[in-house]
Amino acid sequence: MTQSVKFAISELSESNAHMNAILHEMFGGVIGINLRNEIFLINPIAEKILNLSYNDVQNKVYSSIELPSLILQSIDEVKEKQHETKHRITLGNDLHLIVQNAPIRKLSGELIGYVVVLFDITEKTKLSQLQREFFTNVSHEIRTPLTSIQGFVETLSNYEMLSTENVQSIVEIMDKETIRLNGLINKMLEIANLEKEPETLKLEPVNLLNSVNTVFSSYTHNAENKNIKYSMSTIDPSINVLLNQSRFETVLSNLISNAIKYTKPTGTVHVKWNTNNGYGVLSVSDSGIGISSKDQEKVYQRFFRCDPSRNYNIPGYGLGLHISKTLCDTMNLTLDLESEIDVGSTFSIQNIAIVDTPLK
Ligand code: ADP
Repeated sequence: MTQSVKFAISELSESNAHMNAILHEMFGGVIGINLRNEIFLINPIAEKILNLSYNDVQNKVYSSIELPSLILQSIDEVKEKQHETKHRITLGNDLHLIVQNAPIRKLSGELIGYVVVLFDITEKTKLSQLQREFFTNVSHEIRTPLTSIQGFVETLSNYEMLSTENVQSIVEIMDKETIRLNGLINKMLEIANLEKEPETLKLEPVNLLNSVNTVFSSYTHNAENKNIKYSMSTIDPSINVLLNQSRFETVLSNLISNAIKYTKPTGTVHVKWNTNNGYGVLSVSDSGIGISSKDQEKVYQRFFRCDPSRNYNIPGYGLGLHISKTLCDTMNLTLDLESEIDVGSTFSIQNIAIVDTPLK
């Protein structure tokens, strides 16, 4: 072999290696089909999306392979039309794809095959579906109290015809409804703030008992109303921890309020402090409705709510745990969940750094 041929071969194999590396790292799945209708290329993402392996499909005619019928149809279409095609398809219930096909031509214009590019948009599709459901929920949640406030304002405009007791009970209901509206708006503002650029967070020594007690005692009334046995383990008053107090209290407040919300009357809710490898763990356990293992992975997603039939019409927006998890991340804390359907759930805030020196 002459030097120049050797050089050309080495250049070719180098550009082949580059091409393979690019196809390997591409975000989309790629399938190449030649004019004999055989598959000459399939990258790892396409293998994964279609649950195929290169060895099984290499050099096989595409129509002889078990490809989903919608993809087969899209290949037939690009061959017929001879220009780029693009479709959004759903495989099974769960896999949402964009399939973009195009003819492959040499620079001279000569046709040499077809390329199929697959983009997995399942996550994006699910998120927009959750967002749509969220806006429907939020509109409903806003409309209900507003309609009731509007009705009461009309009733109050004829206040001469009402007794003092009537006026008082109407004002109380209006007060409750405005508190609910405020709660929703605050949650939405918290989310909007979290989505801004993360600012550098200042962690400070905080007295653990004081902070836990502040949140714990603010839910005594809710627990009593539901006849829930509500308790807290003893915490040494000298323990100080490194936290951002307001963020920590928001997380704890979300966990306790959920525990009470998702536990039936006469159940139990317990807040417990522990140490593990020199770090603190604060857990909130309940004997509530529990979360299935399938849903446990999703509860931190924005807008996610477990199966509504299991939520017993308990109002909520699917935002509290997303906010809590994000706040924990900003403080280098881990939020852990153990749960069993109809037995109960334990959410624990782990990795809390304990401060040795007393507070000034
Ligand atoms: P919200 O309670 O407002 O719906 P969250 O983000 O706090 O939103 O919780 C998301 C979902 O996780 C809830 O809708 C509920 O289905 C489930 N969940 C959260 N905490 C508990 C719990 N302690 N017990 C059972 N299910 C829970």
